[in-house]
Amino acid sequence: MLLLTPGPVQTRPETRAAMAADIAPWDRDFAPEYIRIRERVRDLAGGRAGVHATLPLQGAGHMMVEAAIRTFVPPAGRLLVPNNGTYADRIIRLAREAGRDPVTLPVPDTRGVTAQEIADALAADPTLSHVAMVYSETGSGILNDPAVVGEAVRAAGRRLIVDAVSAFGALPFDLSAQPECDAVLFTSNKCFEGMPGIGFAVCPIERARERAGKAGSWCFDLGDVLLHAERSGWGSFRFTPPVQALSAFGVALDLYDREGGQPARLARYTENMRLLRAGAERLGLRPYLDAAHQGPIILTLHQPDAPGFTLQGFVDALKRRGVLISNFFTTKTPTIRIGCIGAVTPDDIRRAVDAMAGALEEQGITRRAA
Ligand SMILES: *Cc1c(COP(=O)(O)O)cnc(C)c1O
Repeated sequence: MLLLTPGPVQTRPETRAAMAADIAPWDRDFAPEYIRIRERVRDLAGGRAGVHATLPLQGAGHMMVEAAIRTFVPPAGRLLVPNNGTYADRIIRLAREAGRDPVTLPVPDTRGVTAQEIADALAADPTLSHVAMVYSETGSGILNDPAVVGEAVRAAGRRLIVDAVSAFGALPFDLSAQPECDAVLFTSNKCFEGMPGIGFAVCPIERARERAGKAGSWCFDLGDVLLHAERSGWGSFRFTPPVQALSAFGVALDLYDREGGQPARLARYTENMRLLRAGAERLGLRPYLDAAHQGPIILTLHQPDAPGFTLQGFVDALKRRGVLISNFFTTKTPTIRIGCIGAVTPDDIRRAVDAMAGALEEQGITRRAA
């Protein structure tokens, strides 16, 4: 089965194979592996030894976002959330339920937020301590550029949290060039093509240290993750980790390096997107975004407004042809969402477009009706 979902993504057999062992996380053979993963991840984020640290948590990406909010936004703190999609909605909910006060900056879900919009919103409200943003909005496929947003945040003397879960590893990010950034967040899955199970925050060490003990949660305190590492070693864990997922992540990082790192991954995903978008348009399916605002991570298409079409029917027909896509959508109008990320090649995408043609035909949908 070819997974064209924006998480969990298609993985390589070598990566999955690394799961097939019993491992004790505190074992003297495994601890150095974990230390090395933390260093590699820090370096990939543009972090520097002694200045930045990788602070992992067991679990999903949402938990990293909650942890970063709880750790860095003070209990009485207010955070600005440029909102152009579902994952921004989720930041707002996570912040609210953590007792923080999120302030929405509405942005159309068909383009990224601009530096001017951020600057104006921060100037209008001096009580905002943070901006929390989504890099690749997995709801629609648009990008918000953290370098652009970060510059406005820096100029206003505020702090930044970046949900880079669906972007990191493929889209560029440089923590050393963004001193306003408290945390960049991502997971073992998505663009690193690892197994789900572990999330990462890369943070400035001094900021994490200052904030330790203030999260209102032991589990979600990234400052406590730092203090624990300093006390017990960078190869140690506070709680039982998904150790097989970590081991597989080490293999996924090797494959990432061998492919050529971030530029190579971005190039492959960009080519996947180009072929998928062009193929969908040939079939008569209309993209949700203008080409100028289309990111390389996920393609969103309007559902055909034809009597024979149902999303579940389309998903089932595709699955019978060996391709699995999401059976839900998160835009306000009905759409089809197809991921371009994961261990997926341009040839896979060509086969997927053929499968889409067959699935539409099976539902009796002609090019014109689509
Ligand atoms: C996938 C994703 C997450 C996290 O999802 P989990 O299911 O919690 O791992 C967060 N933000 C964005 C933008 C994502 O695409």
